[in-house]
Amino acid sequence: MAVEHNAVNLGQGFPDFPAPEFVKAAACLAITDNENQYAPSPGLPRLRKAIAAHWQRRHDQNLDANEEITVTQGATEALFATAMGLLNPGDEAIVFEPFYDAYVPDIQMAGAVPRFVRLHPPYWKFRPEELAAAFSSRTKLVFINTPHNPTGKVFSVPELEVIAELARKHNAIVVSDEVYSELTFGTAKHVPIATLPGMSERTVTIDSIGKTFSVTGWKIGWTIAPPALTKAIRATHQFITFCNATPLQHAAAVALEQAESYGYYDELRRTYDVRRKTLTAILNQVGLPPLHVDGSYFLLADISKQPFSSDTAFCKHLIQDIGVAAIPPSYFYANPKSAPALARFCFAKLDTTLAEAGERLAALPSAKL
Ligand code: PMP
Repeated sequence: MAVEHNAVNLGQGFPDFPAPEFVKAAACLAITDNENQYAPSPGLPRLRKAIAAHWQRRHDQNLDANEEITVTQGATEALFATAMGLLNPGDEAIVFEPFYDAYVPDIQMAGAVPRFVRLHPPYWKFRPEELAAAFSSRTKLVFINTPHNPTGKVFSVPELEVIAELARKHNAIVVSDEVYSELTFGTAKHVPIATLPGMSERTVTIDSIGKTFSVTGWKIGWTIAPPALTKAIRATHQFITFCNATPLQHAAAVALEQAESYGYYDELRRTYDVRRKTLTAILNQVGLPPLHVDGSYFLLADISKQPFSSDTAFCKHLIQDIGVAAIPPSYFYANPKSAPALARFCFAKLDTTLAEAGERLAALPSAKL
């Protein structure tokens, strides 16, 4: 609809600015250097080493690049390979709601059953008793996502400890989707649940380079999991994609090897923080106040005062009549009717894109109140 109506697209989560030169150059070089044939199925050794070294620098935790890391077709395949590798028909998997849209179909394709636990606005906290009640003797996996899409929540250490304790008690495995791991703001700190005591042995950590290096079209991701779980993930990965684009794996390795020397991550956070503040100001001015976010590149705007029956109706109006695309977050709920009245706006956009969106949103009647 955004294309059809020539709307400024703040809907789908992808940057409209270029990827860093050193990362693009590495991909071009790998192609001209003839790195164009199949990679080993678990991933290029160089990339797996770079992932392990990055994790070691960040979290002071040693990974075995041969047995604990698997390169996948973005986080998307990592999630699917994990669900297919670890879930049996009839198993249950816990999912926090709202959820990234892939988790539920992944669980269902593995023949398993999702159980939902609510994150409650405005700070998107879960109630420990609701989480405890979602566990059963069939619970195999618990999916978490931090920093979280669509809410921008970053799970705190005490929250992660509650999840970890229940996972240990019920002998469940945590699947932690951390694709926005580098995008946190203010004092918020991203802590992987795998770094909590006793959790590396029961966690599959998933990340990718798409958001971190503004290359969402490259689809290079990975899983980090203990050897036994990695074996199961690789067993399915082998027959899903077998292996992933070789030159882009080389470029991903260069990205992880060199980013710190360019001060890349600090600059990434700084520029995203500016974009976050710009979009926050625009949304406040036009009567769509956003909720607080600690991470990711999304803002959820409160649309409860807009005269529409659903977030979908509001987002359709916004595209057709105002010329700005946002996403209705009810699609991130098992029962869309139970979703709060919000609209998701992406701020991974150029200043000019955000400014154009601001001019168009000023036409909303609520902008004049
Ligand atoms: N998980 C979350 C929470 C996401 O937002 C996305 C991308 N929209 C993905 C996974 C998929 O990542 P990738 O593009 O690396 O497959």
